[in-house]
Amino acid sequence: MDTFDPVPIFRYQEMEQKEENDLNLKAMNAEELREQAHKMVDFIADYYKTIESFPVLSQVQPGYLGKLLPDSAPTCPESLQHVLNDVQEKILPGVTHWQSPNYFAYFPSNSSIAGFLGEMLSAGLNIVGFSWITSPAATELEAIVLDWLAKALLLSHDFFSTGQGGGVIQGTASEAVLVVLVAARDKILRTVGRTALPKLVTYASDQTHSSLQKACQIGGLDPELCRLLKTDSSTNFALSPDVLSEAISDDIASGLIPFFLCANVGTTSSTAVDPLPALAKVTRTNNIWFHVDAAYAGSACICPEYRHFIDGVEEADSFNMNAHKWFLTNFDCSLLWVKERSALIQSLSTNPEYLKNKASEGNMVIDYKDWQIPLGRRFRSLKLWMVLRLYGLEGLQAHIRSHIAMAAYFEELVVQDKRFKVVAPRTFSLVCFRLLPPPNSKDNGNKLNHDLIDLVNSTGSVFITHTVLSGEFVLRFAVGAPLTEVRHVKAAWQILQEKATALLQIYH
Ligand code: PLP
Repeated sequence: MDTFDPVPIFRYQEMEQKEENDLNLKAMNAEELREQAHKMVDFIADYYKTIESFPVLSQVQPGYLGKLLPDSAPTCPESLQHVLNDVQEKILPGVTHWQSPNYFAYFPSNSSIAGFLGEMLSAGLNIVGFSWITSPAATELEAIVLDWLAKALLLSHDFFSTGQGGGVIQGTASEAVLVVLVAARDKILRTVGRTALPKLVTYASDQTHSSLQKACQIGGLDPELCRLLKTDSSTNFALSPDVLSEAISDDIASGLIPFFLCANVGTTSSTAVDPLPALAKVTRTNNIWFHVDAAYAGSACICPEYRHFIDGVEEADSFNMNAHKWFLTNFDCSLLWVKERSALIQSLSTNPEYLKNKASEGNMVIDYKDWQIPLGRRFRSLKLWMVLRLYGLEGLQAHIRSHIAMAAYFEELVVQDKRFKVVAPRTFSLVCFRLLPPPNSKDNGNKLNHDLIDLVNSTGSVFITHTVLSGEFVLRFAVGAPLTEVRHVKAAWQILQEKATALLQIYH
C-alpha cells in the first residue's frame, strides 16, 4: 500500500506561496510586529479619543454576538484590518466602557499609559516566571517593587522581602485571600491536627467581600462556620471588636476553633473601615490569622493624610490592595504582603523533578510559584514598575486626591438637593446616597431608587451601580476613572436630578 501522503507537502507549498504574497501574519516577525502593532496602537488611541461617544454601559441584549459572528473559526487567515473592522462594528457595542470618564460604577479599574506600556512589554517578552531561574528579573523586580510600595505605605519591616515576609503579585484580591486563608488553615492544623478541619471558624463583617466566602468554599472549610458578623449604621458599617470577641468566645465555648479574621479597609458597599488596632488585639489574644483587605482603599494610603486608615496593619499577618483598581495599573495586579512567607510556601509549594534547579535547591531565591495557586505567572511587576517610575509617588498621590476631591464635590451636590440623602459617610471617592421616597412609600423607596438607577443607566451617558445598606437600596457613585473631570461629575448629577424629577412626578 502506498503510504505517501501528498497533503502536507501541498500545504507547505501553499504556505510558502502565501508568505510570498505576504497574506498572513507570521508568528513573531519583528518588522511585521512593528507594522501591525502600530496599527493596533492607533486603533486603541482612537478608541480613547472617542470613548465618550459610546454608551458607558453596553446596551446589547444577551446572545447578541452569536448573531453577528460565524459559527466556526476561519479556515484561511484574514487581515488585521478585517478583524479591527469587526471589533469596531461587533465587539465595541458589547463593551461596557470602564475607562470612560462617565464611569462611576462598582470600583474603578484604572488603565494608564504607563500601565498599558508595561502590559505591552510584558506581552512582548512573554516569559513564564514561576521560578527564579525562568527569568530572574521577573522575580527580583517583583520583590523590589513590592518593597518600594511597602515603604511608600509605611508597612512594617516584617512585610519586606528582606526579612521573613515579602510581597507577591496575585491576579486578584480573591486569590490573595484564598492563599492566605489556606496558609492560615494549614498553620493551625499543624498545631491542632488535620482532623480538626471541620471545627475551624472564619470571621469578617457582613460587609466583607464575597471572595472570602468563596475562599472558604474552596479551602474545604465549613461554609456555616464563615461568620459574617452584623454591622449597622451605628458603627458606619464597620466591624465592632466587641461583637467579634463575643462571637469568638461563643465559638470556643462550643468547642470550635477560631483561626482567621478578614478585616476591611474600604468595604465594597460603602468603603467602611474596620478598626484595625482593636481588632488586632482580639486576634492576638486568640491566636487568629489577621488579614486586611484594602483592595480598593489601600491605594489612598500612599497619601500621608489617608495613611491613618491602615493604622494597625503592623499587627496584621497579611495585607492586600489591588493596584489594578485605583493605582493606574492595568488589570490584573493585586498586591499581597505577608509577614511569614514560610506559611504560604508550606501550603502552596511542590517540588517536581522537572522544575528542580540549583538556585531553588540552594534556597537562594524566591520561587513565586510557591506563593500562588497556578504554576505559570506573567511578568506583571513590569507594569507596576512602569507606573511607579513614570508617575512617581507624587503623581499617584495627585491622582488619588483629585478623585477624592471630585467625590467630595458630588457629595456636596447631593446634600444641597433636599430630595436626596447621603446614607453613609464618604471616606474616599465613593458616595452612597438615595432619593428619598414620597410619604407612605410601601417599600421605603427601594423600587423608586431601583427605577432611578435603571433610568439613569439606560441613557448610556453615565453608569452607576447600587448596594443595599440596612435593607435600603442605595446608589453608589464611585469616582476613579483616570479621564474623569469635574464636568463629568456635574453632568452625571444633572442626569440624576432630571430623572429623579421625572420619577417623582410618577410616584406622587
Ligand atoms: N475586596 C474588596 C473590598 C473589593 O471591593 C473587591 C472587589 O471589588 C474584592 C475584594 C475582590 O476583588 P478581585 O476582583 O480583585 O478579586
